[in-house]
Amino acid sequence: MNNIFIILSAGKSIRFKGKLPKQYSIYNGQMMLDHSINKAIKSKLFSRVLLVINRNHLKFMKSTKKTKFIDVIYGGKTRADSSRLAIKYAKKFKPKNVFIHDAARPNFSINLLKRLNKSLIKNKCVVPYIQIHDSAKYLDNKVVKNLDRNKLYLTQTPQCFNFNYINYLTKKNRYSVTDECSLVLNNKDKVKFIKGELNNEKITIHKKDNLNKITYGIGFDVHRLVPGRKFYLGGVLIKSKVGTLGHSDGDPLLHALTDSILGACGMKDIGSHFPDNKKIFKNIRSTILLRKIIKKIKNENFLINNIDINIITQTPNIKKYRSIIIKSISNMCMVSRSQINIKGKTTEKLGVIGKKKAIACEVITSIKKYEN
Ligand code: ZN
Repeated sequence: MNNIFIILSAGKSIRFKGKLPKQYSIYNGQMMLDHSINKAIKSKLFSRVLLVINRNHLKFMKSTKKTKFIDVIYGGKTRADSSRLAIKYAKKFKPKNVFIHDAARPNFSINLLKRLNKSLIKNKCVVPYIQIHDSAKYLDNKVVKNLDRNKLYLTQTPQCFNFNYINYLTKKNRYSVTDECSLVLNNKDKVKFIKGELNNEKITIHKKDNLNKITYGIGFDVHRLVPGRKFYLGGVLIKSKVGTLGHSDGDPLLHALTDSILGACGMKDIGSHFPDNKKIFKNIRSTILLRKIIKKIKNENFLINNIDINIITQTPNIKKYRSIIIKSISNMCMVSRSQINIKGKTTEKLGVIGKKKAIACEVITSIKKYEN
């Protein structure tokens, strides 16, 4: 099948705080541009992929596949220029059809490619579109007016053409257009619109990678159990003849929990935030430390999904304290009780924990980051 998949990737847009142009940054596990290349190859609909890049971007392409199916050419100043250059270059391969796609849309499906290709049998120009669900207005001579959203189409890419036809229109056209199907419409020819995909949006939002990304953090802590100390567990005072030894109140559950939260947020560990050689933290309640961390992560837009806890100890019997500890943690972390799970474990009287000389806790927390 002699079809060519053209990817327009000459845009200069630089990601927020990033040195890389958007299309070369990592998106969902691979370079944004590679998503389009790989799907085009996987679809088996194309004899060639033609990449149109900015001449200053060649250095970013080191990791991109190099096969005889992929040609790289330099684009022009505008999108229309790049597209014109690509069509001119494609001519020597005598393609039947060309698909013209923006590198900033990595989320289309192979199924969309197949539907577009099928539709090209009977049409010279096929374009995916979606309808809008928000109400739309427009500004007309300083007056805001209503637009009928049922009549509004948002066009996507790939836009697909019979090659000879688009080659003819491109040569004929002297104006800059924002997409190729505008050439067809300007020529008063028919565009076949087929349903696009909501996922096939243009990636323009900065920090998109972090949106709804879930991360996990693990925490672990052990404290000695000695007479004459208070025994705090999850912020709850436990009735006991022994208590935990520590610089702070020695709450192993809150220490492990705090570490797991910091881990999931990529914010080091509890010792970096509250050094235990500092006098101000002597005998401090761990609830205060945890609340401070919760405040910090909230400021960074982190949200706790769930907390799973193992308490490994011979004393106390965790069953008795489970619901009161969950309530305490739910208050401090500002999450519902259903997001917290506690499991009690003993060591079958083995080792220092089995001999009631120590208590250990492990916690896994999962965190989501959201945009403002
Ligand atoms: Zn500790």
